[in-house]
Amino acid sequence: MKILEINNLKKIYHTPKAEILALDDISFSLNEGEIVSIVGPSGCGKSTILSCLTGLLNKSNGEIINQNNLKFGYMLQNDALFPWLNILDNCLLGLKIQNKLTVENKKYVINLLKKYGLKDFIYSYPQNLSGGMRQRVALIRTLATKPDILLFDEPFSALDYQSRLSVSDDVYKIIHSEKKSAIIVTHDIAEAISMSNRIIILSNRPSKVKAIYNINMTDTSTPINNRKCKEFSIYYDKIWKEIDKNE
Ligand code: ADP
Ligand code: MG
Repeated sequence: MKILEINNLKKIYHTPKAEILALDDISFSLNEGEIVSIVGPSGCGKSTILSCLTGLLNKSNGEIINQNNLKFGYMLQNDALFPWLNILDNCLLGLKIQNKLTVENKKYVINLLKKYGLKDFIYSYPQNLSGGMRQRVALIRTLATKPDILLFDEPFSALDYQSRLSVSDDVYKIIHSEKKSAIIVTHDIAEAISMSNRIIILSNRPSKVKAIYNINMTDTSTPINNRKCKEFSIYYDKIWKEIDKNE
C-alpha cells in the first residue's frame, strides 16, 4: 500500500545574493513497510528532500501526498546524543519536549533498549558506548515518539567500515521488526542496495530523478547477507554506471 507520494517536488533556496534551484523535479513513492534509498552526489539536494518532507522547509512547487497524515521521525547524520545525559534520558528527551513523557511511553522506550541489546547501558553515558551502539540509541530515541516513517540522513557516515556493516544490520532489523517504513539518504551504493526495496538515483543539482531501481534479492534476511547474493554485484554495476553517466 502506498503511504507517501512525492510528485514533481521543486525547491528553490532564496538567498540575499541568488536563487538556488536545489530540487528541480523529484517524484517517487513509498509503500508501507518499505525501505527506499535516495542516492546522489554531494550537494544535489538529498537532505533538502527530507527537510521538505518533514515540513522543516517549505517546498517551492509539487506535491507531497501523505493521505493518512503519517508521522515522520528524523535521524541525523551524527548521533547527536547529549554527553551529559544518560542513555535513557537521551532517549526520553523527545518525549519530554513534546510533553508526552507518560509512564507507558517510558516503559516503551525501556523495552526497546532492552530488546535491542542496550539493557546494561540504560544508565551509562554516550561516551562509554561504541559508535555503533550510539547509533542504535539514536534510532531508539527517534522511535520513542512512535513515528510511522523514519527518515535517515546518511546515518552511518561517521562510522568505520566494520561498524557500518553491523549497524546497517541492526537498523534494518529494527525497522522491520517495529513495522516501520523508511527513507534512507546515502551516497554509499552498496549500503543502498543491501538495505532497500527501491533506490532513487538523483542527478547533480538542480536534481532530477535519473533512475529508479527495484531491488529483488534472493536473500533478504539481513543487509550483510544481501551483499553475498549474486544479484548484488549486478545491481552495483548497473547503478554505478547510472551515477557515472554525465547528464
Ligand atoms: P545533499 O544533502 O545532497 O548534499 P543539500 O540538500 O544539503 O544536498 O543541498 C542541496 C543544495 O542546496 C546545495 O547545493 C546547497 O548549496 C544548497 N543549499 C542547501 N541549504 C541551503 C540554504 N539554507 N540556503 C541556500 N542554499 C542551500
Ligand atoms: Mg546532505
